[in-house]
Amino acid sequence: MPSGKRVVVADDNRAELSAMRTVLQDAGFDVVAVATRAELYVALEVAPADLLLLSISMSGVRDLELLTELKGDRRWSETPVMMVSDLVDDDATELTFVLGAADFLCRPLGPRELVARVQAQLRLQRMLSMSKHALMRAEEEIVRAREDAESRRKVVDILHEVTGDLTSDEIYHILARRVARTLKLSRCSVILAKPGDAVGVVATAFDNPSLRNFEIHLDRYPEIMAALAHGTPVLVEDVQSNPLYVDIRREWASNGTQVPVRSVIALPFSIGTVQAGVFFLRRMVDEEPLTTEDVAFADSVIKAAVAAIHRAQLIETTKADNVRLEVLAHTDPLTQVLNRRALTARLAAELERARRYDSSVSLLMVDLDHFKRVNDTLGHLAGDDMLREIAAMLQESIRSVDVVARYGGEEFVVVLPETNAIGAVAFAERLRERIASMSFAEAHGGARVTVSIGVATYAAPGTPSIDELFGRADEALYRAKADGRNKVYQ
Ligand code: GH3
Ligand code: MG
Ligand code: MG
Repeated sequence: MPSGKRVVVADDNRAELSAMRTVLQDAGFDVVAVATRAELYVALEVAPADLLLLSISMSGVRDLELLTELKGDRRWSETPVMMVSDLVDDDATELTFVLGAADFLCRPLGPRELVARVQAQLRLQRMLSMSKHALMRAEEEIVRAREDAESRRKVVDILHEVTGDLTSDEIYHILARRVARTLKLSRCSVILAKPGDAVGVVATAFDNPSLRNFEIHLDRYPEIMAALAHGTPVLVEDVQSNPLYVDIRREWASNGTQVPVRSVIALPFSIGTVQAGVFFLRRMVDEEPLTTEDVAFADSVIKAAVAAIHRAQLIETTKADNVRLEVLAHTDPLTQVLNRRALTARLAAELERARRYDSSVSLLMVDLDHFKRVNDTLGHLAGDDMLREIAAMLQESIRSVDVVARYGGEEFVVVLPETNAIGAVAFAERLRERIASMSFAEAHGGARVTVSIGVATYAAPGTPSIDELFGRADEALYRAKADGRNKVYQ
């Protein structure tokens, strides 16, 4: 049965050489027989030997020069050498092992013994080589595990930064920056888009912050479209050869465009169940191409960070909802000025401030005259329009520190902090005149309306309650009405 193993036999005794060749060939080995040092080197160079049988007389009985030479040459140092000798010489035997021989055979050798010893040696070599490979694999495994641990540590480092109280925009920015730094990317951005979108929006660009909110046409970015469509990362190691870029390359060629980008990764990410966009990583022509390891690293960072982005978005939505609810809770739905509840809170704060800083607050109670008639003649909707227009006019007339509120049906209240009675009456007078001269929408026949205003002022050091202040304004208003309306009283 041929073993196919290449055995080189070297002996300057031609009779012995031929005998060994015959025995080993009959046993199925691929035998090369050589009788000189020169022939030996040729044989070794033609093809590597699995085993070398070297006669001690050829190697040099005393100094074993040839064995020393072979073991000292990196090309053959691993080839097992069995020494063959005609005489038993304990010193020589010992020396051959010291010099790295695998075995020592002493003639006379029966053919079966020769074959058995050669086979045993080859078996040993096979086991040795298997162990060596296993060792190498184990070492590679250790290196990989170390790299994995290192990469996981980097991911954890990055995630530490995004777990705080951040907005999703800030998280996108941090992720793009950290991924770019870790993978030594000159370009890294986050593009928000859904599958099938023609346009994406740049949420952040590590390399160029001014691109934020910039719209990009996705037909220029086949890897982004593919990543969005399939929901899996797309790696383009080289834009000059990747099939995704066939059409775009043709365009570049016809325009003479010099493309600075070498490789690209588009990593899709979803937030909740919604496909939200891609992380877009690029390296330039003068940089190393991106690899599947880079994809794996960036993907693990982003997958882990998505939870943080999701959480941030929920918080943002809740905050926005709360702001909307807050505004709704304080606003009169018809006129969009403050409602009575919000007015009470503001007025309490203003009174407290006036008390503390020894200043004054004035309150105007503005009531539309004969508004029932307006409704009766023009209709309720026309009345509503008038209320809206008057509210808008009041809102425009005040300073930023003042407050306008709808107090009841056709009654408004204006709060004027830091304003004494004279100032408040003068301001009320201007409002009265402006309203009297307003001509309402054509649709309502250019109708006119007047107001009566009651003014009350708190000036330190008094201690009126809110009710007292309202009471005084209301009383002044009553007098204005009784005295013929379209008047300001205090
Ligand atoms: P005056 O104050 O001059 O004594 O007369 P008035 O007709 O305004 O008096 P009153 O306070 O008795 O009536 C207020 C009217 O305002 C009653 C109601 O028809 C009208 N009104 C109250 N709220 C609204 C509203 O939201 N929309 C409209 N269109 N009308 C309203
Ligand atoms: Mg009224
Ligand atoms: Mg009225």
